[in-house]
Formats: sequence, C-alpha cells, structure tokens
Amino acid sequence: MSTIRTRFAPSPTGYLHIGGAWTAFFNWLFARQSGGAFILRIEDTDRSRSTQAYEDAIFQDFRWLGITWEEGPDVGGPVGPYRQTERADLYTRYARELVERGAAYPCYCTAEELDAERRQAEAQRRPYRYSGRCLRRSAQEQAALEAAGRRPSLRLRVTHLREPIVVDDLIRGRVVFEPEHLDDYIIVRSDGTALYNFANVVDDHLMGVTHIIRASEHLSNTPKQLVMYQALEWTPPVVAHLPVILGADRRKLSKRHGATAVRDYRLQGYLPEALLNFFALMAWHPEAEREVYDLNELIAGFRVEEVGLASPIFGLEKLTWLNGVYMRRLIEADLDRVVGLCADILQRAGLLPGTLTPEMRGYLARVIGVVGDRLKIGQDIIPYGDFFFKDVAYEPAASAQYLTPASAPLLRAYADALAGLEPFQRMAIEQALREVCARAGVDARALIHPARVALTGKTAGPGLFELTELLGRDRAVERLRRAAERAAG
Ligand code: GLU
Repeated sequence: MSTIRTRFAPSPTGYLHIGGAWTAFFNWLFARQSGGAFILRIEDTDRSRSTQAYEDAIFQDFRWLGITWEEGPDVGGPVGPYRQTERADLYTRYARELVERGAAYPCYCTAEELDAERRQAEAQRRPYRYSGRCLRRSAQEQAALEAAGRRPSLRLRVTHLREPIVVDDLIRGRVVFEPEHLDDYIIVRSDGTALYNFANVVDDHLMGVTHIIRASEHLSNTPKQLVMYQALEWTPPVVAHLPVILGADRRKLSKRHGATAVRDYRLQGYLPEALLNFFALMAWHPEAEREVYDLNELIAGFRVEEVGLASPIFGLEKLTWLNGVYMRRLIEADLDRVVGLCADILQRAGLLPGTLTPEMRGYLARVIGVVGDRLKIGQDIIPYGDFFFKDVAYEPAASAQYLTPASAPLLRAYADALAGLEPFQRMAIEQALREVCARAGVDARALIHPARVALTGKTAGPGLFELTELLGRDRAVERLRRAAERAAG
C-alpha cells in the first residue's frame, strides 16, 4: 500500500477558522496514524483577497495547535509549506497539456458577452451553463481575436460528457452528479493565473495526495475536479467531505455564536490540547462514554469512515468544561505554562508589565492557586483575580448591597484586627473575622460579604481568607478601611 499523504489547503483570506482547524486536524491524524505525510498548502491564487498577514496568522495558529506539516522537497517545486503563487509555472505547463489533449480550450468571450448569456438564461428560467461558443471557433477566428488584443481564459471541456460522474466519498458513500449540471468551467483566467479547481488538482497530484478530507462545501467541486483527473489520466485521491458545523442553536456556526477563529480561542487562553480533544468529539467521538483522550490515543484510533454525517455542534460550554479538565491537569503537571498563559492575558489587559521578574511569576502562581478550579480558561484570571493586580473597583450592585452603614463598623473593626494580626495567615484571618462578629453579636455572614466586596469589588470569587492572605496585610487593611468609609456614607 502506498504511503498516505493528506493535506490542508487554506486560502489566506482570513484567520484560521474553527472548521478549518478541525478539517486540518482530521487530515493530520489520518496521516500521522500511518506514518504518512501531512502537507500544508497556501492557496493564495486570489491575490486580491490573500494577505501575508493572514498567511502568517495561519502558521502561528498551526504552531500553537501543534499540527506540524512536512517541510521536505516537493515534486517540481520549492519546499513546504507550499504557496500556489510560487508554483505558477507548473499550472502553465499542465494548462498547455490540457489544451494539447483537447481537454481545454481558449475562451475569448468578454465579461459583457457572458453577462448577456447569463441574462438570457435567467429570462428563460433555465440554469446558466456556458454556451460553448468558443469551443467552436476556428483557428483563424482565434488568431483574429488575439490580433484584436483579446486575451483568452481557458475552459475545461465538461459538457461533452454523457455518463454520470460518481464520487465515492468515505463519509457520504456514493454521490452521483449528472453531467448536464456542470459546464465548461474556467481553469485559467485571461491574465494567465490558475483558478482554484485547477491549481488544486495539479497540486494534489504532484504532491502525491492520496486522501482529501475537506469541508462539505467542496463536494460540488469534486465532480469538476474528477473530470480534470480523467483528462490528464491521473488517479484521483480518495475524498471525504465533513459535515457542516453548527452552533449550540443548531444553526450554521457563525460569529453570532461567538468567536469562530482559532486565534480568538488562543488569545482567550484556551489550551490547544483541549481544542484538539474537542475536535475529536465532533462528528466522530472515539468511544461512546468517554470525553477525554490524549493525542496518541486519537492518532491510533482515528477512523475517517467512522466520521458521521450528522452536523456536529461547536458547543462553547462543553469546550470550556473540557478546557477546565485540561487546565486542572496542567496546573499539577506544568504550573509554569499556566503562569505564562495567564501572564500573557494580564499583560494584554495592562495589568502586568511586559517583562516579569521571578517574584511576579511566583506571585502569579500563587494567584492561580487561589483562583483554583474557577480557572477554566486563561481569561478567567481577569474576573477571578484582577484585584490582585490593580486597585479594587467596586461593582455598583455589590457596593450598593454590602457597603452599607450597618457594615461600616464591622469593616473598621476587622481592619483593626488584621492590622495587628501575626502571622498573617489564612486560619488566623478567618479566626479574626469570627471574633469581630462575635464581639458585635452578629452572624459571620454580616461581615464576610462586605469584606469580600471591600477586598475584591465583587460578590463572588476565590475563597475569602486565602485571597486576603495573598493580598497581604497592608493592602487588605487599606482596602477594608477605604470600604468602611464608603459604607459609612
Ligand atoms: N483553498 C480551498 C479552501 O480554502 C481548499 C479546498 C480544498 O481543500 O480542496 O477552501
């Protein structure tokens, strides 16, 4: 059996989408499982929409995900990752070959002429197909048009086919396309640049791609591409078209559902291992009763033919839960990485300086310890721990409810108690609070809630006594006194 070679072929016209990363991951799993190759190919032939910045961002996301690609020498081109704009000569060569084989022909029709054809089809309420006018042009006619300055595009001959085109899809099974629904489509623009369906086929063939796992929106391109494989007498790769991803409301995943770019998840402090694990549960799910898998299990267990046809849901709640599972493990196994992740978020929020001293890192590690299980994604360090890095900002509702004249003397007494407390340590801090309340003859809750608002500005968060210890005596006492003044009115 020949080695498996898969690929992912993004166009650098936007950030890497969740759906793209999912597709790439399945191709990567499939290749890795058999010791095959995974190729990354940048399909940048649409120069008006492709940008270097998006290309760089795509690489950055792949590096973050840990999806590695082959960098070896290619057949007839530079080394990977590949860029279609660097492969123009290859497309020119095969365009010529298609013409020589009589499988492609130059089309001199102008945009206006094609528009007129299209309008006529509309008026007659029939689906538009190119008339094939240029297929019938004689060599003299062609020469005259060239002399008149017309530059032809190139069309692949499709309409002469009579037999249905059958796609054997690993996920969808047999899909039959009737040739009358296809037309002689343009494969090279009049400026000589190759179009998607053409460059894609040439590259897949030259790169020895054996399997293509891609989005279902490309299923309709597959028969067009098969015609080209036939014309060039090339063996087409096996295809598998993934179902469309839905949001939690079962509508096609879009920005309405939240972030759709991998980059946004990276910036919010999701972990790549959690995202990949989540991808494995989308339309596949290795075992019925299990959610958490390590990467090696996924590589060993992946079966493309087990991928379901039903649209998977990209549920943020579940992803975040899964991320929390990975976060807890990581805090045990590699606290330094969690510190780095949270530092990055705090730095972007302007709550930490750009360069951290070892003391700052150590302090952040302790904050992470205090935040504990509440830290499901890196971003959670902000709602649950921002007050460690900046002065307290009272949530208006919290202040209105708890910083009241009744709580003022309690807050003041507590500040006094903490000012002389030695050691300034969790158990002693709790003891001090209970004593203040006992002396005042009130329930501990009468002070616990106001104290939390005083120290954090919020009504919920990490354990009160742990966070007080970590804030340290000076800051705690100062915040309690300030809140007491505010409470007194
Ligand atoms: N450049 C195409 C895209 O981004 C690739 C499609 C394919 O995988 O063939 O959708």
